[in-house]
Amino acid sequence: MHPPKAGHYSTYSMIKKLIRKILGTKSNKGGRNSDEPVILGAADHGIDPRLLSANAVRVTSTLQEAGFEAFVVGGAVRDLLLGVKPKDFDIATNATPEQVRKLFRRAFIIGKRFQIVHVMFGQDLLEVTTFRGTASASAPKDEHGRVLRDNTFGSQAEDAVRRDFTINAMYYNPANEQVLDYHGGIEDIRAKTLRIIGQPEARYREDPVRMLRVVRFAAKLKFGIEPHTAAPIPVMAPLINNVPAARVFDEMLKLLMSGQALACLQQLRKEGLHHGLLPLLDVVLEQPLGIKFVTLALDATDARISAGKTVSPGFLFASLLWHQVLEKWTAYRAAGEFPIPALHLAADDVLDSQTEKLALQRKIGSDMRDIWSMQPRFERRSGKSPHKLLEHLRFRAGYDFLLLRCASGEIDAELGEWWTAFYEGDEATRDDLVNSAQRSGADGAPKKKRPPRRGPRTRGAAAAADSSGQGGQGGGE
Ligand code: ATP
Ligand code: MG
Repeated sequence: MHPPKAGHYSTYSMIKKLIRKILGTKSNKGGRNSDEPVILGAADHGIDPRLLSANAVRVTSTLQEAGFEAFVVGGAVRDLLLGVKPKDFDIATNATPEQVRKLFRRAFIIGKRFQIVHVMFGQDLLEVTTFRGTASASAPKDEHGRVLRDNTFGSQAEDAVRRDFTINAMYYNPANEQVLDYHGGIEDIRAKTLRIIGQPEARYREDPVRMLRVVRFAAKLKFGIEPHTAAPIPVMAPLINNVPAARVFDEMLKLLMSGQALACLQQLRKEGLHHGLLPLLDVVLEQPLGIKFVTLALDATDARISAGKTVSPGFLFASLLWHQVLEKWTAYRAAGEFPIPALHLAADDVLDSQTEKLALQRKIGSDMRDIWSMQPRFERRSGKSPHKLLEHLRFRAGYDFLLLRCASGEIDAELGEWWTAFYEGDEATRDDLVNSAQRSGADGAPKKKRPPRRGPRTRGAAAAADSSGQGGQGGGE
């Protein structure tokens, strides 16, 4: 592979720019030759090199010193051009994964579908990817046209064609501070436009997740979507159903953790992407009672992200699905269950219905369950109960969740205020709080005999079924 001759290309790109200026044409429409990049120098693109991570430069320079081409690529270049510090750096190179691995002390080849190299420096992880070739017509696809595997290496120009949006297909070389732009990404950055590379329908068919990505980037960057890029989405949205749940989940998580979660969900709805796409979103966006709660939860999440704090996916999903849990909890209680087992049954139902589609990871599911099942315990304000709850490993998450419930008007604000005072108070204050709650009868302790059950208890039957089923020995497969 020949390294681009920078001098030649920049003269070329200047002339091209000049012609474009004179003719007033846009670069990435129609006959633009995407085999050759427009090359921008530091003065043209204005990237502040201080936004680069030292490790990204370490990787590109090590590769370059070994005789390979190496660039920062994708989202990091987009963010650099927008003056934002990238949260991670991807590197593209013409070195093969094996050649990359040999150059770094802690480097691991991962991935079956397409091998990439993880290069680690302490906690910092950089993904190094070999330029990929254009998707071949013979690449295996599913019955809807989704590309399943395509592992060929290629040139940088081919690599650029395979990327999703023009603003994500630029390459930055820290050594000479040049940006290589194959698809008019710079102009789209300036015009705040998301434009898919190639023929939109074909690109969505190859990988339907790109539809979710458009929405995420549009909401996060506050960019408009170019009309041809937007047009097929409502029609093609159902294709997302064929994508493995784990991938959809990853993308949803990125969307919710983008710092613009609320804007993203609103945009999903606008593009017709929420309906039937994820049961979660149907629930969230079409539930008038829950909307206030979800809005508050997402606002709080977005605020935490912009303040640089961490957000727990468990808390996030627990919030999104709370009103569904509430609904089922009420139903189980009406059917005669005690409050706590009723809540567990409701949580089971909701988690079961979401796991199938969303591939909720086990850890996230158990965090959600913890947060939900703590809620009735906040109502018990007598004796040792509040002190015990305070020691719960996930108390803080449960308490934050309680405050959201108060703020949304679901429960009385007084309960949240009591817990804030209890949480922040010293021992004497805490004792006073417990005593006064007991005196005023707001301690949540059972006052009278439990109501009679209406239906037969199901638990005994379930336990019996258990011991005769999977629990038994020699039960076959
Ligand atoms: P973020 O800031 O959220 O990380 P990103 O653009 O870096 O945004 P990644 O998922 O990290 O997103 O992907 C890195 C790059 O890989 C993208 O910029 C894009 O060039 C390419 N890419 C990622 N996903 C796809 C896809 N589904 N189809 C085509 N190209 C993709
Ligand atoms: Mg990225």
